[in-house]
Amino acid sequence: MYGVYPWASAPDYFNQTNMLQLKVILTPDEIEKLASRSNFRYGKNLAEDSKIRVIKSNTFNLIAELKHGNSKPQTVELTSTTKGFRWKCTCTAKKDYFCEHCVAVGLASSAGRE
Ligand SMILES: [Zn+2]
Repeated sequence: MYGVYPWASAPDYFNQTNMLQLKVILTPDEIEKLASRSNFRYGKNLAEDSKIRVIKSNTFNLIAELKHGNSKPQTVELTSTTKGFRWKCTCTAKKDYFCEHCVAVGLASSAGRE
């Protein structure tokens, strides 16, 4: 399931009607707003000690696989659409749940260390 972050609910982007580049959305500040506190903290650690492999990356779409230690690899997809920012991760079927893997991949890409 995709989580959705409609531009209308994002004050910074209230008047934004065009698709935003992923790199504009994926700043550490925005990622922190999307995730819960604990997921943000955990994701930050994951970004540092996981193997993140980019499967697909372009201006509006990023698909990456994250492997942490011996745990099962998870695939994260982050997409900017005309309707807003969307994300999904293989670790959960919960919609609108910005998990620690989404945080890690988002932070890694914003830091340019994909
Ligand atoms: Zn996940």
